[in-house]
Amino acid sequence: MPSSLFILLGALAAGLVFGSFLNVCIVRLPRHQSIVAPGSHCTTCGAPIRPWDNIPVLSWIVLRGRCRACASPIAPQYPLVELGVAILFAACVLHTGATWQTVLDAVACFFLLGLAIMDAQTMLLPDAFTMPGIAVAFLLKIAAPNAHHRGAVALRTLQDAAIASAILLLVWYLYRVIRKQEGIGLGDVKLLAMMAAFLGLPRTLVAFFLAVVSAAAYALALVVRRRATSTTRIAFGSFLALAGIVAIFAGRPLLTWYLSLF
Ligand SMILES: [Zn+2]
Repeated sequence: MPSSLFILLGALAAGLVFGSFLNVCIVRLPRHQSIVAPGSHCTTCGAPIRPWDNIPVLSWIVLRGRCRACASPIAPQYPLVELGVAILFAACVLHTGATWQTVLDAVACFFLLGLAIMDAQTMLLPDAFTMPGIAVAFLLKIAAPNAHHRGAVALRTLQDAAIASAILLLVWYLYRVIRKQEGIGLGDVKLLAMMAAFLGLPRTLVAFFLAVVSAAAYALALVVRRRATSTTRIAFGSFLALAGIVAIFAGRPLLTWYLSLF
């Protein structure tokens, strides 16, 4: 078997395992529950899920999306998130090969997909997920095998995260002063800091721009269809996180294209 195919299959398998863990984070962290204990269990009857019923995607298909103990439905979100992370991991390998950058991008995709879903479902971006994300980004940047000046790398990462959060803090502050309400939350600020730590400032700014444009288009669509009032909140963090994933794969070409317009 050619080694590139081997690496791709490895990325898919790792993605399924990480996706399975991401499901636990998505369900438990916004509710302030531990991600370690109790072990996997049916959310309806509480029956523990046996290891062979906990194989990503496959178990859900074998069980036809139902709990073995009480037969209540298991949300398709579980296999979909597992598949989603697997596809993103494989896409990272196709994008940058088997490099340290691939690891950084894949781990960023893991955190961003999780935060996009959490914000859409609960309007929350838990610190228990964004803060470890920032820490992991730092560690991966500093631990890069080709990083010669680790001090400079750490400083640069810190600087990117600080500038990104300063921009969003300013937006947050202006929104409060002008509209007397919170348009974005401080969770969004930490999310953008995490994105900057992973992606660097240029790709993060591309993502921020994409998120603002798509969130505004979405809000406009809601108003046009009379689904929104002036107090309707939209999950801006979801737009930000999904735009971050787009920027991982298309950030540099998008930036080059945008700058070529001037
Ligand atoms: Zn059950």
